[in-house]
Amino acid sequence: MRELWFFLSIVLVAAYRRQTFVGDQVLRIRASSQEQLALIRSLEELEHLKLDFWKEPTTPALPIDLRVPGRHVRAVKAFLESNGIAYSIMIKNLQTLVDEENVSQLVSELRQNGTYSFNYKSYHTLKEFSTGHKRPAVWIDSGIHGREWISPAIAIWLAKKIATDYGNDPSVTSLLNKMDIFMAIMVNPDGYVYTRTKNRMWRKTMSKRPGSHCFGVDANRNFDANFGGRGSSRVACSERYCGPHVNSEPEVKAIVDFIGRHGNFTAFITLHNYLQLLLYPYGYTEEPPENIEELDTLASEATEALASLYGTRYSHGSIIQTINESSGNSIDWSYNQGIKYSYAFELRDEGQYGFMLPWNQIVPTAEETWLAIKKIMEHACNHLP
Ligand SMILES: [Zn+2]
Repeated sequence: MRELWFFLSIVLVAAYRRQTFVGDQVLRIRASSQEQLALIRSLEELEHLKLDFWKEPTTPALPIDLRVPGRHVRAVKAFLESNGIAYSIMIKNLQTLVDEENVSQLVSELRQNGTYSFNYKSYHTLKEFSTGHKRPAVWIDSGIHGREWISPAIAIWLAKKIATDYGNDPSVTSLLNKMDIFMAIMVNPDGYVYTRTKNRMWRKTMSKRPGSHCFGVDANRNFDANFGGRGSSRVACSERYCGPHVNSEPEVKAIVDFIGRHGNFTAFITLHNYLQLLLYPYGYTEEPPENIEELDTLASEATEALASLYGTRYSHGSIIQTINESSGNSIDWSYNQGIKYSYAFELRDEGQYGFMLPWNQIVPTAEETWLAIKKIMEHACNHLP
């Protein structure tokens, strides 16, 4: 017990240096017209407000989730109300959720780790994430955006599932007899560490920009797919900053080089959260991918499989038609490299917790997502070129 208190006090001291979110609220805003959307976008330009769009304004059909720092909550609500824009409070005090998450971390960190004793029901520190000729291969990555903790948390569960199902589950066994699965469980380790030590809401990498007080690049805007185009930003301070040039981020370059050198990937899956969506290319153009019907049917089968376990409902479609324009994202790039089955998951939830998805949803999310990923991998395996 004494050790526990000692440990707690160290963590509490560390916690003092972290960015806090006391009084920060996440508002779910419903714009009813293009005019209202434009008004909300105009808020984005007011840098001093330090607003953080968890879900950006896109079309009136989709909700906008906006984190407002505590000291500006009243002003932002007044702005919305005076313009007749409907909103509800999704998260009343973000710090409460951050505190709850910190407590569950502490308890988990006191446990032993190992493949079988590893606590899959917890978001882990980077250190805890320590973990093969050119057969056709599947790529799975997670953790490209720092604050999306559910992504690496379920990926490590998936890795164990795949390893232990080999020789036990006939489908996984026959799949692995024909194909390799490569997983990059923590694509953006520096960003992840930063979310654990300084700013829980950090999304980007940690690279420095000479001449700018802002740092970090949105790694999922840094790929060679209409780089710098709509749905990304050339402004270093933007949450969707594409970086100075294609592959400028070592995190992105490592993926691009590895997949290029390998040359035989047939499926590319990337894990994000949130909104419960299964997305396929493109994000930068309305032009449909060549095998759109196959991609759409497979997405529909995968999301049905996912829902069969706990009833979790996912929508599916191309990025541009389902969320928004997005240039420089990984699945548009991988698809253009000839990887026919390129998908992005936006995992749980629909917005109740958003990035603060509680630890007790990690394993259920992993279990259901596995069913969808297995469908995609089986299809890729049955349709090898
Ligand atoms: Zn993401």
